Amino acid sequence: MRRVTILGATGSIGQNTIDLIRRDPAAYDVVALTGGGNIAQLAADARALGADLAVTAYDDRLDDLRAALAGSGVEAAAGPQAILEAAARPADWVMSAIIGAAGLAPGLTALERGTTLALANKESLVCAGELVLGTAATHGARILPVDSEHSAVFQALVGEEIAAVERVVITASGGAFRDWPLERLRTATVQEASTHPNWDMGQRITIDSASMFNKAMEVLETREFFGVRPEQIEVLVHPESMVHALVGFVDGALMAHVGAPDMRHAIGYALNWPARRALPVDRLDLARVGQLSFSAPDEARYPALRLAREVMAMGGLAGAVFTAAKERSLDGFIAGRIGFLDMAAVVETVLNRFAGAPGMAQMSMTLDNVLGTDHLAREWADDAMTERAG
Ligand code: NAD
Ligand code: MG
Repeated sequence: MRRVTILGATGSIGQNTIDLIRRDPAAYDVVALTGGGNIAQLAADARALGADLAVTAYDDRLDDLRAALAGSGVEAAAGPQAILEAAARPADWVMSAIIGAAGLAPGLTALERGTTLALANKESLVCAGELVLGTAATHGARILPVDSEHSAVFQALVGEEIAAVERVVITASGGAFRDWPLERLRTATVQEASTHPNWDMGQRITIDSASMFNKAMEVLETREFFGVRPEQIEVLVHPESMVHALVGFVDGALMAHVGAPDMRHAIGYALNWPARRALPVDRLDLARVGQLSFSAPDEARYPALRLAREVMAMGGLAGAVFTAAKERSLDGFIAGRIGFLDMAAVVETVLNRFAGAPGMAQMSMTLDNVLGTDHLAREWADDAMTERAG
């Protein structure tokens, strides 16, 4: 029996993970589930899976969670500290599926225990790659990628030497606005940005797909996870979302990972690793699919991709600045404070301010420095949004 914990259990990735676990309950001993404000879901899953512990991120929801778990024998707890305690409980496998920078500290806590971390929370690697990878190395913990592109690259690398890799190509669907005229993007609404043509995901990552901030994050994640150089990473627009990534080798071979767009593949691969087990995902009938198409991304349409290159050139805490500014400008877009295209402009303003701030480029990557930089970059994003609005 594998002891598993799911951080961010009530979200899109968390629910897909639970779906897989519920199909084979005898194989798993569920230690802890954490969530946010969806107490009913959290409690129902904790009961159904027989978890030892359920934690809500919100202190003021503890009574609700206790009430929802009454008589179940599941322990209830609340608040950020309790999430860290959940991450620290002995387990064999921890899913890191909290969204945003809030996922960093719990993931580090699991790694410090030497636990295998299935990493959906790409923000951790983007804002603190060196710290996350260093912590894993120090404690002999393994990190398995859950982002579909990175899972695909990871799978293409089985049995290969990273030195034989020439390039890594991650694909992008192009998001909701792929076929919109550039001018119309200015007036794109939250509603319009929240529907993805191929993937069924949480709202924030869906909007990040439309702006390609998600792909920009994934470029940075690729750099950190696989240790490849910036110029080895390519983004390819592929509207069908069936080829998730390709790895090009020095002998000219290109290994593509092809499959239906369903996150349960990447989650299940990490859950069963190093074995492969049957997963409930659609099998592709390529004769019926007939054609797959590819094109180069238009950087005028997707400025986020250019910004990712700038972040890689800056190094250090630039990733933390990028993640925080992106999250804050996304909040601003969702709240109607700024327009769709303003998100990239805000992030760029914040990155420039970081580049010009004395001493910041030399700051070392500690958890405190990452969180402090995250906080500061959010304030700078607020300043930039106020300026744009006024
Ligand atoms: P989501 O918004 O659906 O769920 C997020 C989860 O985190 C929820 O359980 C929520 O309660 C919890 N949470 C939110 N804020 C929190 C906080 N401050 N403290 C503690 N818990 C908090 O998000 P998602 O789409 O499942 O994405 C989760 C992560 O996986 C993200 O990092 C995302 O980029 C990544 N990812 C998602 C997908 C996808 O298909 N959804 C694909 C690839 C990668
Ligand atoms: Mg992805």
